Amino acid sequence: MRHLIATPAILLRRVAYGEADLIVTLLGLDTGRASALARGARKSSRRFPGGLEPGLAGEARLRDRPGAELMAFESFDARGDRPGLAGDLAKAAHAAYAVELCDRLCPPRQPEKAVFAWLDEFLSRLDKGTATAERLRVFELGLLRALGLGPSLGRCAQCGREELGDADVGWRPEAGGVFCLDCAKATERMSAGTRQALVKLDSASLPDAEALQLDRATAAACRRAVLALLREHVHGPLRSLEFMEKMSGSR
Ligand SMILES: [Zn+2]
Repeated sequence: MRHLIATPAILLRRVAYGEADLIVTLLGLDTGRASALARGARKSSRRFPGGLEPGLAGEARLRDRPGAELMAFESFDARGDRPGLAGDLAKAAHAAYAVELCDRLCPPRQPEKAVFAWLDEFLSRLDKGTATAERLRVFELGLLRALGLGPSLGRCAQCGREELGDADVGWRPEAGGVFCLDCAKATERMSAGTRQALVKLDSASLPDAEALQLDRATAAACRRAVLALLREHVHGPLRSLEFMEKMSGSR
């Protein structure tokens, strides 16, 4: 039996397939990350009137095919409520990056309702506001947390010590976060200011992120640290990140 699924979804990726089809990867509220074959989508927009661009949110109708990895993409009604994302290059770059991270980090066919809500809210706030590095860091850290991959920033990842205060710490992204100096030994160092900024970013909601403003050096250090954490889980190049780097040089 072919099982019909209707779910709110955010589109993550699209790849041309054959002459007329697309393989679309989406994050469905009820399906998690899933891939579906949209037959004829490149020739006719009848079933996909708002298009199938990554970042679009809407209502997806999918048909599960027993034994097949790809679902059939029956139709997609895009909500079309984020017009600001396409018209601004920096915002479009941040949106593409957030979407690519979800594509690369979410396990297949496992509903991730917290991730769905986090990405949806991020895209809405990005649409209404400006593209800021602070919001992007809050998003990255919240995404890792929602997937159970969040780093230890407030306590030593080795001995659990919480009073890290104003001392520098050791930094080992591959071992889950910061180390107190007793445990750090020969590891890379992180300044107290960077660690405290990361704690703030990690505990911030997306509305909180609007009020955060890091100085240039701290922002750069936080960016390096969060990217090192992401690199532990995302292998291979992140195309949207390379684009962003080319565009801005730093964000
Ligand atoms: Zn320790």
